[in-house]
Amino acid sequence: MSGAAAKEITIGVLGFQGDIEENVAAAKQALSELKVKGKVELVRYPEEMERIDGLILPGGESTVQSSLAAIQHSLPVLKKRISEGMPVLGTCAGMIMLSKKVFDRVVGETKQKTIGSLDIVVERNAFGRQNDSFESDLEIDSLGKGPFRGVFIRAPAVSEAGKDVQIIARHANRIVAVRQKNIIGTAFHPELAGDARMHRQLVKMILENATTAATTGKQR
Ligand code: GLN
Repeated sequence: MSGAAAKEITIGVLGFQGDIEENVAAAKQALSELKVKGKVELVRYPEEMERIDGLILPGGESTVQSSLAAIQHSLPVLKKRISEGMPVLGTCAGMIMLSKKVFDRVVGETKQKTIGSLDIVVERNAFGRQNDSFESDLEIDSLGKGPFRGVFIRAPAVSEAGKDVQIIARHANRIVAVRQKNIIGTAFHPELAGDARMHRQLVKMILENATTAATTGKQR
C-alpha cells in the first residue's frame, strides 16, 4: 500500500436530517470490507467540512436539508471542497442537494438552494409520493457483477444531464444514477440495500484522490 493509502481517511456524513445513521453504518461496512483504516463523522459546520476526505449527502427531505445547510453557511464550503476534487456520494435528497436545478411535478421549479456542483436537472418525487415508493434490481456496470437493489422512496429522477455527466443506472426509462468526475448521485438509497458496493466505490475514490494529491503535491 502506498503512503497516501495507508493514512486513515475521514468520511463525513452531512448531519442535518434524513438517513444519517444508515449512511454511517454503510460507510463503516464499506471501510471494513475493503480493510481501509478510516472513521465516519457527522458534519454540519464549515470547519468540519474542511477536515474530511469524502462526503455522503443522505436522503431525507432536501428542502429541510438545504435550509439548514444555508443557515450554517455550509453550502459555499461544500461547493469549494467538491470543486477541489473531494469525492462525494449524494443519495436521493442528497443528489437533489448536489444538482444545478430542481423541479417538482406539482410546484414546478422549486428554487431551493442547492450546492449546484452536479450538472443535472432533477425532478423531485418523479415516481410519485410516499405510497409510490418501491424497490427494483438495477444493473450498474461500475459496481461489478450482480444486480444492485434500488430502494426508491419519494425518489427523484434526472431529467437532464450535462456533457460531463455519465449515466450509470436507469429505471423505467428514467436516469436514476449518475457520475461526474468525483461526484456520484443516486435517486435511490444505497445505504438501505444491505449491499455496501456503492459506499465502497466512494471509499475507492477517496483513496485515489489521496494518491493523486500526494503525487501532485496538492496536500491540504
Ligand atoms: N422527495 C424528497 C426530496 O425532495 C427526497 C426523498 C428521499 O430522499 N428519500 O427531498
